[in-house]
Amino acid sequence: MSQRILLIEDNEQNRYLATFLLERAGYQVVSAEDGAKGIALAKQLLPDLILLDIQLPTMDGHTVARVLREDVTLRHTPVVAVTSYAMAGDRERCLAAGCTGYIEKPINPATFIQEIGAYVAADASDGVEP
Ligand code: MN
Repeated sequence: MSQRILLIEDNEQNRYLATFLLERAGYQVVSAEDGAKGIALAKQLLPDLILLDIQLPTMDGHTVARVLREDVTLRHTPVVAVTSYAMAGDRERCLAAGCTGYIEKPINPATFIQEIGAYVAADASDGVEP
């Protein structure tokens, strides 16, 4: 069964590009355009990985990450922040908020899937399934 990725991203073009690349690589993608919807979908679907934009309306990505980490069913789900290089200190704040790692925005189509794959594989290797 293909792995499912939840994409929390408010920008439609960014959603389109990430979804295109991920689906082409065989992932199932479910997306949400704000943090509240993303959190609700995460609880409902228990995705294999969450891609989290940091600059979101209403509730920023750091807050979303903290809420996800407070949920016992999502505590070990890889959360990869998508951070803008221009935002100084953003990465450290992402990790402090509970994100597993981060990738740089804008997404690089040449390396994106490889970057995502590292987080999914890292999660699978310490999982309970044989
Ligand atoms: Mn955004």
